[in-house]
Amino acid sequence: MAVFNLRAYDDHEQVVFCRDKESGLSAIICVHSTALGPAVGGCRMWEYNSDEGALIDALRLSRGMSYKNAMAGLRMGGGKSVIIGNPKTQKSEALFEAFGEFLNNLNGSYYSAEDVGITTADMAIVNRKTDFVMGLEGKSGDPSPLTAFGVYQGMKAAVKHRLGRDSLAGIKVAVQGLGHVGYYLCQHLSEEGAELFVTDIHRESIERVVNDFNATAVDKDEIYSQAVDVYAPCALGATINDTTIPKLQCSVVAGAANNQLAEDRHGEVLKQKGILYSPDYVINAGGIINVSFEQDGGEYNRQTALDKVSEIYGTLTEVFQAADKEEKTTNVVADELARKRIEEAK
Ligand code: NAD
Repeated sequence: MAVFNLRAYDDHEQVVFCRDKESGLSAIICVHSTALGPAVGGCRMWEYNSDEGALIDALRLSRGMSYKNAMAGLRMGGGKSVIIGNPKTQKSEALFEAFGEFLNNLNGSYYSAEDVGITTADMAIVNRKTDFVMGLEGKSGDPSPLTAFGVYQGMKAAVKHRLGRDSLAGIKVAVQGLGHVGYYLCQHLSEEGAELFVTDIHRESIERVVNDFNATAVDKDEIYSQAVDVYAPCALGATINDTTIPKLQCSVVAGAANNQLAEDRHGEVLKQKGILYSPDYVINAGGIINVSFEQDGGEYNRQTALDKVSEIYGTLTEVFQAADKEEKTTNVVADELARKRIEEAK
């Protein structure tokens, strides 16, 4: 398989293939850019269909972290790692310790953290072998409330830009996915008087939000076609695609999920439909902003973190205004701004 000329390779600084026979570890660590600071991005554990699939996933996620960290104004570059294996059956202390040794060999050019399939307890084992780990228990803690707060701020910016409204009171929002982020997001929206239409694949998650925030439950396949102002994807990626876009009746997309657009061109399809898209890695950066306060052994302060996360409002407004001025899609403008910040730092 060709590696350097893969589209996803995109000038990565370093890609490390890690294999430890004893523990069964197979992992890939990708460092996209250290121009703005050490690369930071989570570690995912997943049973990939192929090694190529794992590599491409890691490369895409790693570049995404470069862009996310750059747009959040952090002194951090972008990287990501994947451990190939089933997170339910293939975890062991030896595996995570071996992964820690590999991180240590990178000498701080990449810091890892938890991601899909990995818990803070797993990362605590990694931490036995290396200090290049962030987001551990007892430090900045669960990033989800801060991610939700950032999405809430970003949604306010999008509603202001598209609908000219300063408040979300009376604004109808369809929230897809009521997990860690979705629940806290609903709390902020309800406090401001938004009207909520919610769905999840778990009935208990729906019931909790219906009871706590007087939301209206919606079938999971009906969420796209709700007559709402805002669609907030907070579950999986790629929910904005050729099948769902024709159903959307909203004016704004603003949610927490990563990789919301199935393909970049769907940004253009949304624009043609008059729907304002809030680029995912800009609006969902609250969690990484929260973690960034651990950098350089800094003292964590919740209020300082909240203040910094509030800046997502201004960053998104900048993206929306530039997109209008340059007659481009918001996702293209965000990518260009992120790349500019990285290039300037070089
Ligand atoms: P989570 O796993 O806690 O919640 C996801 C929820 O979506 C679950 O309740 C799940 O049942 C539900 N869901 C799954 N498939 C669904 C479907 N087809 N329809 C409706 N609901 C469905 O995850 P989370 O931490 O809340 O993260 C949500 C999204 O935000 C993810 O895409 C994640 O990558 C992204 N994100 C999270 C953070 C964070 O700080 N947690 C930061 C940045 C981005």
